[in-house]
Amino acid sequence: MRLLAIADLHYSLPQYDWLTTVAEEFDLVVIAGDHLDLSSMVDFRAQVVVVRKYLDRLKERVPILTCSGNHDLDSRNQAGEKVAKWMRDLGGIGVPSDGQSFTLDDTLFTICAWWDGPAEQAAIGEQLKADAARRGERWIWVYHAPPEKSPTSWGGGRSFGDAALEKWIAEFQPNIVLSGHVHQSPFIKEGSWADRIGDTWVFNAGHQFGAPPAYIILDTEHQTAAWFSGAGSQAVRLDQPLARPIEPLRALPEWLKSGNRAPGPTPA
Ligand SMILES: [Zn+2]
Ligand SMILES: [Zn+2]
Repeated sequence: MRLLAIADLHYSLPQYDWLTTVAEEFDLVVIAGDHLDLSSMVDFRAQVVVVRKYLDRLKERVPILTCSGNHDLDSRNQAGEKVAKWMRDLGGIGVPSDGQSFTLDDTLFTICAWWDGPAEQAAIGEQLKADAARRGERWIWVYHAPPEKSPTSWGGGRSFGDAALEKWIAEFQPNIVLSGHVHQSPFIKEGSWADRIGDTWVFNAGHQFGAPPAYIILDTEHQTAAWFSGAGSQAVRLDQPLARPIEPLRALPEWLKSGNRAPGPTPA
């Protein structure tokens, strides 16, 4: 399986256009939250309409999974906590989102919502517990905020990570967590796009302006995660311990060159 992981597009239409052009090269695209931008001049509801249209078009090319971020919240639950209702409704166009799971080959994906309060947080705990009972060979979480005390959530002066996620990783030990949220982490001292907590890999591609966005390609057959950004590229081997500093990627690996793909798996 070859997967493209990004987050924090923040209503950047050039980045959505880029995504549309590359989507078919992957078996799956994961967008880990913050589709919209609260500071945009464009009306929030208009942003929802445009992004929904992009996602509808994208999913014709490749399966997409996406979770909400703190910029995506348009509604409230019964407890009065903010939720992204428009994203839960993406099921209507065939895009799995908050609170849902997805299976591709032997990999179970659990898609977690942004939690704004104890009710949503408890729901995520239940969701993870239920999915733990049916995890396959590989278990990947899609979760907007990276865990606390990780270079992937380092903001320069402090961590902007999620303490609840840190506990859940310790409890359930998924294979991989795909995050975003802390835009600067990969680009600053003591920050990083990759971390390993026990046996769990955590990734946050970071945010840059314009196209292409910073992104991560995860290839399970080649046991590699590669990060591409305007500040350079790096790669880690998923079947080896994480060694810092992470090696820069000086040339495109053989397995990534086009025409050198193993036949893609079919969705289960
Ligand atoms: Zn963001
Ligand atoms: Zn965010």
